[in-house]
Amino acid sequence: MSTTRRPIYLDYSATTPVAPEVSAAMQPYWSDLFGNASSLHHFGRDAAAALDEARAVIGCALDARAGEIVFTGCGTEADNLALRGVAFAARRANSGSPGHIITTPVEHHAVEATARQLHTLFGFDLTLLPVDGCGQVNPDDVRRAIRRDTVLVSVMLANNEVGTLQPVSEIGAICREHGVPFHTDAIQAPAYLPIHVGELNVDLLALSAHKFYGPKGVGVLYIREGTPYVPPMTGGGHERGRRPGTVNVAGAVGAAAAIQYSARQRDAQAARLTRLRDRLIQGVLASVPDVRLSGHPTERLPNHASFVFKHVDGESLLMALDVEGIAVSTGSACTSGNPEPSSVLLAMGIPREWALGSLRVTLGYHTTEEEINILLDVLPRCVARARAASLEF
Ligand code: PLP
Repeated sequence: MSTTRRPIYLDYSATTPVAPEVSAAMQPYWSDLFGNASSLHHFGRDAAAALDEARAVIGCALDARAGEIVFTGCGTEADNLALRGVAFAARRANSGSPGHIITTPVEHHAVEATARQLHTLFGFDLTLLPVDGCGQVNPDDVRRAIRRDTVLVSVMLANNEVGTLQPVSEIGAICREHGVPFHTDAIQAPAYLPIHVGELNVDLLALSAHKFYGPKGVGVLYIREGTPYVPPMTGGGHERGRRPGTVNVAGAVGAAAAIQYSARQRDAQAARLTRLRDRLIQGVLASVPDVRLSGHPTERLPNHASFVFKHVDGESLLMALDVEGIAVSTGSACTSGNPEPSSVLLAMGIPREWALGSLRVTLGYHTTEEEINILLDVLPRCVARARAASLEF
């Protein structure tokens, strides 16, 4: 970084800083109240009481029962448990049929790779729903894809790469009509959108505390009472047998404090960030040649702007912005000198020469108008530099 300006963080979809009140709430559980929540003595009982309280707070925030909340080690684990837990339950109930899973080609790897492994190693049949040019699924395609042997549908609430929101509530209603368990990865949403499991018609929902101003290494899985589920991890009987392993009490307390913190900020921040985001999008589209918005123009996360630039290497652009002190992200990855476009962008029909130049700018509670102005000022020359380098190459 060569600038003397304060660094600008515009990668809130990757992670968020822990809010001071969240770290204060967690503090006692690293030291004085360090007990194992499974122990019977009073150290354990104090930890168990904190865990019960955290579960109740999260249940309440999601309009779920406390008993339907399972703490996990991260969002990836919550997604893994959801898909495997339901698939294994279906396999146990009907060992004769391979079973069929429906998901989308725009899921995070936590869902995509799990579904793929359930297909390749466990023999589940897999349908990837089509998405349109904005990355959205049509609920009618879900209805058409459901079969007698469908055991699970998984469609994310908000896409991490392009910010597009999916019609989860409608998809959930279709799944419920057909008696098929429905999971959504809602990991990108809670800091910016309200999440009520009843309104979304979901049976399973995954969250990750570090995306809403809580600590890393804590996930939440909502499992609606009565959903068929076989614990994919084996061990002790923690979390009512749904996720074995000594529970991270400080982390659970932090997740609960973070969900309360973000619920208080959410509506005002979503309105403020939508304005900033739209100004950013209009500014970029007006000032940079050969650029397109990726994802849905309006049905997208309030904090999320994403673009593709023709004939630009995404990693070079990211590094050019980093030199200017601005942290963003790209969907393309360069493995062994060979740039690879994001499969999400390709699934949306974006041509390879555009998809290689993807840029994600995600705003957060601490983002200021001045930071957006600086990005708008710096970006055209960074794109020009990265484009010149990629054309030379
Ligand atoms: N799902 C989505 C949509 C995400 O954005 C992420 C993280 O980027 C994950 C899953 C994984 O969450 P975690 O980092 O807590 O494992």
